[in-house]
Amino acid sequence: MKVSLASALGTCFGVQDAINLAMTPDFGADLTIVGQLVHNPQVNESLKKNGVSLVADIEAIDQIQTKKVMITAHGAAEKTKEKLSDAGFVVYDASCPLVMRVHKTIKSMVQKGYFPVVIGQEDHVEVKGIVGDLKEYLVVNNMSDLGKIELIGAPKLGIVSQTTLQVEKVEHLVRKIRDLDCVDEVSFVNTICQPTRDRQVAVRDLADQVDLMIVVGGYNSSNTKKLVQVCEEKGIEAHHIESFSQLKRDWFYEKKHAGITAGTSTPEYVINEVHEEILKIAKETDQEPVAR
Ligand code: SF4
Repeated sequence: MKVSLASALGTCFGVQDAINLAMTPDFGADLTIVGQLVHNPQVNESLKKNGVSLVADIEAIDQIQTKKVMITAHGAAEKTKEKLSDAGFVVYDASCPLVMRVHKTIKSMVQKGYFPVVIGQEDHVEVKGIVGDLKEYLVVNNMSDLGKIELIGAPKLGIVSQTTLQVEKVEHLVRKIRDLDCVDEVSFVNTICQPTRDRQVAVRDLADQVDLMIVVGGYNSSNTKKLVQVCEEKGIEAHHIESFSQLKRDWFYEKKHAGITAGTSTPEYVINEVHEEILKIAKETDQEPVAR
């Protein structure tokens, strides 16, 4: 069995910069991260081992015991940062610049008179940050949400997207929104970030060559789930795992070519462990059939 890695996979610069900042020795045990720094269990575990505290979100402000707090790569609303500063915390901001670009884009659309619409998951921390400073807005995630646009009755819509969505899904939704009778004008800026796009293109290319794809990343990682979706849409068997220990030999039975990809919050060492384990399985299964 041949084993190939996607040409773009794993940790993006936004996540890596945030991890590097959180691991700065100067912080010692005087840092609390507000929300998951990244959607990856291994990274969060190593942060805890380094003495860094984590709280779920700004609602847990009363539980923060440190002087210093950090905003994650997913970003946060200005009013969240102000609430932390006003409470006396020193705020370190690890928001990814590509997330901040979405904040700026939607605010500028509002200033130009467009009603703000975000394509994304309403309960995702990044989306909460994008809409957190807006007086009114709409979050649309799928076709069944289009009725909400008809209800608000705003003829000029300014649309952005969560950075980690699937490109085709967003473009399809925007086409459907443009077609609505109640909408006169749409200003759309596709804010899916380049690292997410690169990983989607790479997994699609690799999916054309393999008969099995292993997708590595946190179960709560939005962009990792999208990589699984891309494979499934192409009819390729895909398994989403967080660690090499979850690999099952049965998956590789009679497979000729296995691919590996990983979401933007998956560290290199986690991918390497998965790669090495699959190479080991490939060697074994090439020598003897796997018992089913
Ligand atoms: S996935 Fe994109 S937007 Fe999110 S942290 Fe990485 S580079 Fe930034």
